Amino acid sequence: MKIEIDDHSGFCYGVIRAIELAEKELAEPEPLFSLGDIVHNELEVGRLHKLGLQTITREQMESLYCKKILIRAHGEPPATYRIARENNLKVFDATCPVVLKLQKKVHQAYLESLSDNGQIVIYGKKGHAEVNGLTGQTNQTAIVAGSENDLSELDFSRPIRLFSQTTMSIKGFKQLQDRINSIRAEKGISSSVVFQVNDTICRQVANRESQLTDFAKSHDVILFVSGTKSSNGKILFEVCSNANPRSYQITGPDAIQKDWLAEAESIGICGGTSTPLWLMQECETKLKELM
Ligand code: SF4
Repeated sequence: MKIEIDDHSGFCYGVIRAIELAEKELAEPEPLFSLGDIVHNELEVGRLHKLGLQTITREQMESLYCKKILIRAHGEPPATYRIARENNLKVFDATCPVVLKLQKKVHQAYLESLSDNGQIVIYGKKGHAEVNGLTGQTNQTAIVAGSENDLSELDFSRPIRLFSQTTMSIKGFKQLQDRINSIRAEKGISSSVVFQVNDTICRQVANRESQLTDFAKSHDVILFVSGTKSSNGKILFEVCSNANPRSYQITGPDAIQKDWLAEAESIGICGGTSTPLWLMQECETKLKELM
């Protein structure tokens, strides 16, 4: 049986950068606190915990003083930096540069919307850390839409500036954009009323979809390794399932079931942008044991 680990799977640039920063600081004697899980993968978080990383919530951060905190790749709203200053916390900022640029764009659009009574819409997952960081750039006024069903809050007679969380699907973004356009047309909204579309989906993720489709089609069985909290993982697993119905999402090697492999001649192992390579390699080892 042939087993292949997808070359393109694994941590994206932003996550690698955050983990490297954490590992560097964990080599120092003072404790390091991560505001939320550094990556949406329970096993990688567990590995870093063993090195001494402590994950804390926003509430816990509020009562933390004079310590080192790490801001993960998803970024944080301005209020977090204010609390850090007030509590004399030393911030190690691993916000992905792509997210940082997006935060600045959203903030700029927010300032423009103040002058023309506009609305900021973020295509994303409500409550996701990156989305919280983005709504923080708009004084919490942005409307978060996960799908076309969430557009009821919008006033279509007013300007709309649309952005996307970096890890959403291009297809979903286009559908939302088309739906807004068709509602505007139905309501007879003049083209002079701003509808600005900012496709801010990260191409490290977006480019993965077509490549992953080819990979999933080229194997009899696909094992997609991903943490349960990863939104990117959910999207990419769906891509695999659409391309190959014999796709299984697993969190690690222990979840592999022998009956999935019946009559399979080739098995592909892949994952999302928060899946560590070492975990995919452990799945490969487990597959070899099961053969
Ligand atoms: S998916 Fe893209 S934007 Fe998000 S952390 Fe990774 S590199 Fe940065």
